[in-house]
Amino acid sequence: MNNETIAQNLRKTLEFYQEIGFEYMPFKAVTSNIKDSNESIITSNELKTKDLSLVTCHSSLNKEAALKALREEIGDCKRCKLSKGRTNIVFGEGNPNAELIFIGEGPGAEEDRQGRPFVGEAGGILTNLIKKMGFKREDVYSANIVKCRPPMNRDPEEDEVSTCMPFVQEQIRIINPKVIMALGRVAAQSLLQSKVPISKLRGRFYEYKDIPLMPTFHPAYLLRNPKDKWLTWNDAQMVLERLKTSG
Ligand code: SF4
Repeated sequence: MNNETIAQNLRKTLEFYQEIGFEYMPFKAVTSNIKDSNESIITSNELKTKDLSLVTCHSSLNKEAALKALREEIGDCKRCKLSKGRTNIVFGEGNPNAELIFIGEGPGAEEDRQGRPFVGEAGGILTNLIKKMGFKREDVYSANIVKCRPPMNRDPEEDEVSTCMPFVQEQIRIINPKVIMALGRVAAQSLLQSKVPISKLRGRFYEYKDIPLMPTFHPAYLLRNPKDKWLTWNDAQMVLERLKTSG
C-alpha cells in the first residue's frame, strides 16, 4: 500500500469516526523500540506507515474484529427517532469476508424481535434466492440501510437514512465485497444517491465506490408480486456472472 492510499484510507476513517461523534481517535500511540517481524529497528518514517496501516487496514487485519468494533460504536444508538419504537438494533450478519453483500431497507417486525436481518417471511424469499444462487446464508453478508424498525413498516425518512447511512457504508467498506445487491427502492436509491424508481434501476450494474452494485426488487415486494420473481432471478444471474469473472 503506498503512502497516498494510506492517507486516503486514514482520511475516510477519520471522517467516519467524526460523523458518528468521535472527537479523538481511540488508538494508542506507538512509541520507540518497536521491531518488525525480522527484528530490525523500524525507522520513524516506516513506523508512521506501519502504524497508519494498522489503523486503516480492516481488510487484511481482521474484518470480524472491525465489524465488532463498529457494532460497539453503534451501542444503544439513539441518534435518530427510529430508536424510540425498536426492540433490537439489527446490525447485520454473515461472513465478514463475503464476496456478496445484500443491503435491504430496514428491519421488519420479526427482524426487530430477533435482532437479525431477513428472518421474517420476506427473509425466507431472500434465503431461497441465496440458495438458488449456490450459496448458504452464512457465505454472504446481509444488512439494512437503517438498523432500527420504522413504525408500521413505513419507509425510513430522509433524516433517518442520512443518520444511519454511515454505519452501512462502513460495513461495506470493511467487508469490501466483490458485488453488492441492493434490495428495493430505499437501498438502491440511498446507495446510488438516485431518485430513479427501482423498476427502472434494476437489471443493470452501477458502481458504489468502485464496487459493482446490482439493484433488484426487495423480497417483501416479491411476496406481494410473485410474478416478478423471475426478474430478480435474472438480476441474480448477472451477479453470479460478475462474481465468476471478477476472479
Ligand atoms: S436507525 Fe440507525 S441511527 Fe437511528 S437509532 Fe437506529 S442505529 Fe441509530
